[in-house]
Amino acid sequence: MKTAQAPFPAAESRPPKKWKFSDVLAERSVHERWEKVRQYFFLRESTYDMTNRCNIRCDGCYYYEGEKQFALENRDPEAWRRLMRAEKARGITYVVLAGAEPSLVPELLQVCYEEMPLGSIASNGFKGIPASVGYKIHISVWGNDDTSLRIRKAKHLLLKQIENYRQDPRAVFVYTFTRENIDEARGVVETLAMQGCKTTFNVFSAPVGYQGPLRHDRESLLRTRKVMLTLLSAFPEQVLFSPYNAVAHTHPLGLHALYACSYPRMNPSTDLGLGRSFRQYRADLTWDRNIACCVPDTDCEDCRHYAAGSAVVTARLFRHAASPDTFRAWLDYIETYLAVWVMGYEKGGHLCPELMAPPGFSLNSDGRT
Ligand code: SF4
Ligand code: SF4
Repeated sequence: MKTAQAPFPAAESRPPKKWKFSDVLAERSVHERWEKVRQYFFLRESTYDMTNRCNIRCDGCYYYEGEKQFALENRDPEAWRRLMRAEKARGITYVVLAGAEPSLVPELLQVCYEEMPLGSIASNGFKGIPASVGYKIHISVWGNDDTSLRIRKAKHLLLKQIENYRQDPRAVFVYTFTRENIDEARGVVETLAMQGCKTTFNVFSAPVGYQGPLRHDRESLLRTRKVMLTLLSAFPEQVLFSPYNAVAHTHPLGLHALYACSYPRMNPSTDLGLGRSFRQYRADLTWDRNIACCVPDTDCEDCRHYAAGSAVVTARLFRHAASPDTFRAWLDYIETYLAVWVMGYEKGGHLCPELMAPPGFSLNSDGRT
C-alpha cells in the first residue's frame, strides 16, 4: 500500500543549500578577515634540517627515526646561501628551519635569514638564538619540568626556555599534548602567561612504529580537546589557538583522513600547491620527493601535528567555503596559523566560537564532544 506523502519534505531530508562564495562572504566581519588573510597566500614553504645534532634526547622524537639523521652535515655557510638563493628562484618564500636542533648552528640560521626573510625555527629553546635572526621561533614544551626531565632528560627546561625567550616577539611556546601530560598543561600555560609568553598547542603524533606511552587514544584525545578549550578561554590573549584548531587536531581520525594530506609523501600530484613546490632538505642539502613532508617518519595515520595542519587544513579552502559556518571556522584556523608562523601578524577574535565539525565528518566519529 502506498503511504501518504508529506506536503513538504522534512527539513533534514532537504538537500543542503548550495552556497555561493558571495553568500559566504556576506557578513562584514568575515569579509574583512578574508581580505586580511588572503594577503599571505603568497607564502610557499619548504623545510630544512640544519643539523643532525641535538643537545637533548627525547623519547618519541621523529627526527631520530628513519635515515635523515645519518646525512652528513653541510656546515658551509656559502653552500646554504646558494641553496637559499636557488630556493627563492624556484618560488619558495617561507622557510622552516628544523633539525635536530637548529640553535647549534647560528651562523647557518643567519645566512638563511639574510637570503630569505620569512620563516620559522623549530627549537627546544635550551640555547638562545641571536636576536639578529628575525624568524619566528617555536619552542617545544612537552610538559612540566618533572616530565621534561623524565622524557627529554633535560633539567629545568621550562625555566631555561623562559629565561632565553621571555618578552621575545619571535617566540611561540608549543605545548605538545601527549597521552601522559594532559593535566600538566594548565600549570605550564599559566606559568608562561604570567611571564608574557605566547603558547600554541600541538598533539603528539607517533613516529612510524612507535607504540609507547605518549601515543594518544580516543579517550586522551577527547580530554586533550577539553583542556585546550578551557585554556583558550582562560588565556585568550596568550594562547594562539581556536575552537576549530582543537577539533581538527583531536579528532579520532588524523589529519590525512580528515583533509587529505597535500605533502608530496602522501600526494603524488606534481601539478599544484605543496605537491609541486614542497621539499624537505636533509642536513646534507639533499631531498627525496617520496618521503617529503614537514614531519618525515611520522606515522601518517596518527598525524595530528600542528605543523602538518598548518599546511593541510589551510589548503582546503574550497571544501570549507561550502557553508558560512565552516568557512568562519577555517578563517579562525588560518588566523591562528598566521599568528603562530608569521612575524608581526596580530590575531583577531574568533569568528566561530562554537565547535564545528570538519566538512563531511561529525565532531567525533562517535558524535561526542
Ligand atoms: S629536542 Fe627535538 S630534535 Fe632534539 S631529541 Fe627532542 S624532539 Fe628530537
Ligand atoms: S606525517 Fe602528516 S604531514 Fe607527513 S605525509 Fe603523513 S599525514 Fe602528511
